[in-house]
Amino acid sequence: MGLIITGAKLLGDKTQDLYVDDAGRLVAEAPSGAETLDADGLVALPGLVDLHTHLREPGREDAETILSGSQAAAIGGFTAVLAMANTSPVTDTAEAALRVFDLGREAGLVDVQPVGAVTKGLNGQELAELGLMARSRARVRVFSDDGKCVHDARVMRRALEYVKAFGGVVSQHAQDPTLAGPTACCHEGEISGRLGLPGWPGIAEEVIVARDVMLARHTASRVHIAHVSTAGSVEVLRWAKAQGIDVTAEVTPHHLLLTTDLLEGYDPTFKVNPPLRPAEDVAALRVALADGTIDAVATDHAPHARHDKEHAFVDAAFGMLGLETALAVVRTALPDLSWSDVARVMSSNPARIAGLPDHGSLDVGTPAHIVLVDPDTSVTIDRADSVSLSRNNPWHGRSLTSRVVHTVYAGRVTVRDGALV
Ligand SMILES: [Zn+2]
Repeated sequence: MGLIITGAKLLGDKTQDLYVDDAGRLVAEAPSGAETLDADGLVALPGLVDLHTHLREPGREDAETILSGSQAAAIGGFTAVLAMANTSPVTDTAEAALRVFDLGREAGLVDVQPVGAVTKGLNGQELAELGLMARSRARVRVFSDDGKCVHDARVMRRALEYVKAFGGVVSQHAQDPTLAGPTACCHEGEISGRLGLPGWPGIAEEVIVARDVMLARHTASRVHIAHVSTAGSVEVLRWAKAQGIDVTAEVTPHHLLLTTDLLEGYDPTFKVNPPLRPAEDVAALRVALADGTIDAVATDHAPHARHDKEHAFVDAAFGMLGLETALAVVRTALPDLSWSDVARVMSSNPARIAGLPDHGSLDVGTPAHIVLVDPDTSVTIDRADSVSLSRNNPWHGRSLTSRVVHTVYAGRVTVRDGALV
């Protein structure tokens, strides 16, 4: 058994065959009797790792399940995803984390790593079972109330102190609720006034980012900023990193390519939290991703059933699909980013942030998690083609550069020629 991948360009550079033994590990020599996977001319990257995925199970299996989300992830070239805690019930206990973990293993297409809630029921007040989740078989390392901000500074401080004990990290959804409340849905500015939509000002994000990097410094703990969306947040992050503060940050594919003006048509497909921002912010996010101020791309894949999304703009649910298109969006938004930089921001950095040592490299001896990409093809996205159970796809009808051709998870081909095996 085993696998021989022929003709791929490693990180877009030199052509080299890749060998996988029957235990699913990368090895230096060709295994005998192995299956061959033709990757002639394709770029080989370590399997992608998503720090921010909403899988909706348990609770909203009509929108996505751990299986359907795993399928979408594999199609997108991912081999690990972090499943956010804002399910129903919330992932705030070891039992809940283990349920997600085990359903992920059952699906068997990517590593599904549960994110633990920071506070019980995402109530923002009482810490969840952080230690029990960390010590469980699911080895939870990332904690987040995502969807909600941990807005109480005292609670955030406690959480940072607590996760330090086991090398955990708090991933913050930065939204000061007094500056951007639950109905805020449009970048605050001329456009929110003109469209008559509740404004979501960039400062609501930036004050939390600034506060949390100071709390990370004070506690000597580690904070991660989810879905950074403004140039002001980038400035704070750049300063914090220069001080040696232990902060990392992610940006979503949609914040790298889409802008506020898409809201002109009141299409709820483009309603997302934080909202789409003006071109100046998008430009700053691209620079920050390229220069390392922002460490990772994370999808914030947020499937929604039709009846939750097809409403007047103010009443529709927040969120967009993202797993299947993430790599192509990054490639389209930053065509000059080298493939090794793509691997850094979509695989090795997120693997390191999440504490997943089996992911993020193509080194001999590591599990063979690999994505093979056609670098130059353009594909017009059709939402009907998605394997997600939801259809809130902001890329419908757009042409994106590059295509995931094959995905290999633990030495097993999960996607061949763009289709699930
Ligand atoms: Zn969020």
